Amino acid sequence: MAQQTPKNPEKHCTYVPKQKKSTKPYHNTPMLNELEKGPWPSFVHGLKRLAAENNMMVDLMGQLEHSYKTRLGYWKGGTVSVFGYGGGIIPRFTELMGSDGKAMFPESKEFHTLRVQPPAGNHYTTAMLRQLSNSWNKYGSGLIAFHGQTGNIMFIGTTTKNTQHFFDEINEYGFDLGGAGPCVRTSMSCVGSARCEQSCANEQKIHRLLVNNFIDDMHRPALPYKFKFKVSGCPNDCMNSIQRSDFSVIGTWRDDMKVDQKEVKAFVAKKGRKYVVDSVISKCPTNALSLNDDDTLSVDNRNCVRCMHCLNVMNKALSPGDDKGVTILIGGKRTLKIGDTMGTVIVPFMKLETEEDYEQLKEMAENVIDFWAENALEHERCGETIDRIGLVNFLEGIGVDVDPNMINNPRVSSYVRTDTWDEEAEKWKERKAAG
Ligand code: SF4
Repeated sequence: MAQQTPKNPEKHCTYVPKQKKSTKPYHNTPMLNELEKGPWPSFVHGLKRLAAENNMMVDLMGQLEHSYKTRLGYWKGGTVSVFGYGGGIIPRFTELMGSDGKAMFPESKEFHTLRVQPPAGNHYTTAMLRQLSNSWNKYGSGLIAFHGQTGNIMFIGTTTKNTQHFFDEINEYGFDLGGAGPCVRTSMSCVGSARCEQSCANEQKIHRLLVNNFIDDMHRPALPYKFKFKVSGCPNDCMNSIQRSDFSVIGTWRDDMKVDQKEVKAFVAKKGRKYVVDSVISKCPTNALSLNDDDTLSVDNRNCVRCMHCLNVMNKALSPGDDKGVTILIGGKRTLKIGDTMGTVIVPFMKLETEEDYEQLKEMAENVIDFWAENALEHERCGETIDRIGLVNFLEGIGVDVDPNMINNPRVSSYVRTDTWDEEAEKWKERKAAG
C-alpha cells in the first residue's frame, strides 16, 4: 500500500514552551536539523522542545551532533544504583574533552536511564502519567519512552545524585524499578479483558502474581542471565510472548469456540460468500472451517489450532469457548548463543480459577527458574539450556509429565513421539483415563 503523507506534520509536535528556561545557548546542529526535515515527526523536534527547558538536553544534542560528525559513540557504562537495589538503572557517563582541555558537554556528562515497571496491562490514569512526568521534570531531562523494548517506562537522562531522589519520589506513590542485568526482568501483560473480547485469562492477576513472587530476583541480579515473563490473554499473543519471553503464559480455551450463526449470516450478507470463502474459510491453516449452503458456519473444533484468524475477522460471530485457561511455553528469546528460538509448549492447558490454580502456576515458575539457575551456564538463556541438555532432561528437572499435546512451536506437531516413546505415552493415557 502506498505510504500516506500526513497533511499537517507539525500538528504532531506543536508544543511550544511558554518561555525558554534553559540558560545555555544551543549548539550548532546542522545534521540533527536535517533529520527534522521530511513529512514525519522527528525525534529531534522532541529533543529541541526539551532543550528549551533544560541545559542537560542542550548538551545532549551537542554531543549527539558531535557523534554523528565523528561517527563514534562516547557513552560508557559504570555502576549506579539506589539503596537496597542492584539493578534497574542503566548508567551512562561521558567525558568528551575539547582542545582547550575543558569538558565539551558538561551538563550531559551523566545521563543515566531508569527502568520503571509499568502497571500490569499498561493501565494508567492520566493523573498517574502527570505525576510521573512532573517527577521526571524535577529530577531528570524530561525525556521518557513509553515503553522501551523491555516493557519498562524508560526515564532517560539524569545525574547520579538525582537517581535516588527520583526513585524515592516515585516509589512513594507506588512505582518500582524494573530489572536490568542477569535477573528476572520487568514483565509485560496485554491490555486484557478491559478492552479485548478475546481475553481468556486474567492477565493482570497472572502478571502481578509472577512479579510479586520474584521481585527479589528482579532487584538483585543473581541469575545466570535474564529471565522474562510475558502474559497474553489469548492466542493472538499481543505481547509476542512466544518469541520474546522465557516463560510465556497465553490464554486459550479447550472446548468448542462459540458460533453465533445469526451474526455469521449477517456477516455473509454484508461481505458476500466469495469474501468469506477467500478471507476466512480458505485461510484456516487446518481446513477446520466450512461455509454451509444456508450461510451458516461449521467448525471442526478438534482440528482448530487456535490461530485466531477466523475469530479476528468475524469477531461478532465467533468467540473463544467457555472452558478457558492458559498454555505455558518456555524458552523464547532473540539470537544469542544459538539462533532465535520460540517458546516450547510445556503445559498445553492449565486451568486458572481457584487460588490453588494460581499457586500451581507460581510453583511451576519457581521450579523452572530454580532448575535453570542451577544448571545453566553463565550467560545462557533458558531456551539455550533446553537446547543443550535436551527437552527430556529439562521436563524431568522441573517435574512435568509428558503429554502428546506438548508441541515444539505453536501450531506444529507434537514433540512427544507416541510411536517411539511408548512408555511415556502409556503413562499419559493412564493419567487421562483417571481424569
Ligand atoms: Fe481455523 Fe484458526 Fe479459526 Fe481455528 S482459529 S478454526 S485454526 S482459522
